[in-house]
Amino acid sequence: MADLLADQKDKKIVMYCTGGIRCEKASAYLKYRGFRNVFQLEGGIIEYARQVQANQLQNKFLGKNFVFDERLGERISDVVIAHCHQCGAPCDDHTNCANTFCHLLFIQCTECRDKYEGCCSEQCRDFNYLPEDLRRERAKMEQFNGSRFRHGHFKGGGRINCSLTTHRRHASQR
Ligand SMILES: [Zn+2]
Ligand SMILES: [Zn+2]
Repeated sequence: MADLLADQKDKKIVMYCTGGIRCEKASAYLKYRGFRNVFQLEGGIIEYARQVQANQLQNKFLGKNFVFDERLGERISDVVIAHCHQCGAPCDDHTNCANTFCHLLFIQCTECRDKYEGCCSEQCRDFNYLPEDLRRERAKMEQFNGSRFRHGHFKGGGRINCSLTTHRRHASQR
């Protein structure tokens, strides 16, 4: 991003994120890269929404703020700016695919939730009807949501293995 904006180092840049942690890091990085007018929303959208309410200010944030707990989103205004990933209807409800071997995070309307039984595809829905031992076996070969099921992607284990491999690769390049 710093490279994309390389010729705009004097422009005002405002960064914001959910809770103000990631944009704190990102703005520190931009300042380090020589950007002079970097601002950030302290406390993120969560704090912004709190202050709008407390001080009766005009809310300029449209839609939902994605959050990382089980709510998967906090409504800030009634405007719905996203669409169901399956049928395209206006919707901003995030969900995780009910096939735990897929677990894709996506937006699903209530109609599609019924139709696909909480899954991201017919494939995942049908897969969920298989007996558990068969599911475990098939999950090793089967591809969900366009990519092969990455075991442990949403849990700690897989990631650690991943970064170890990367480290090793880097080490051998040197
Ligand atoms: Zn839908
Ligand atoms: Zn799925």
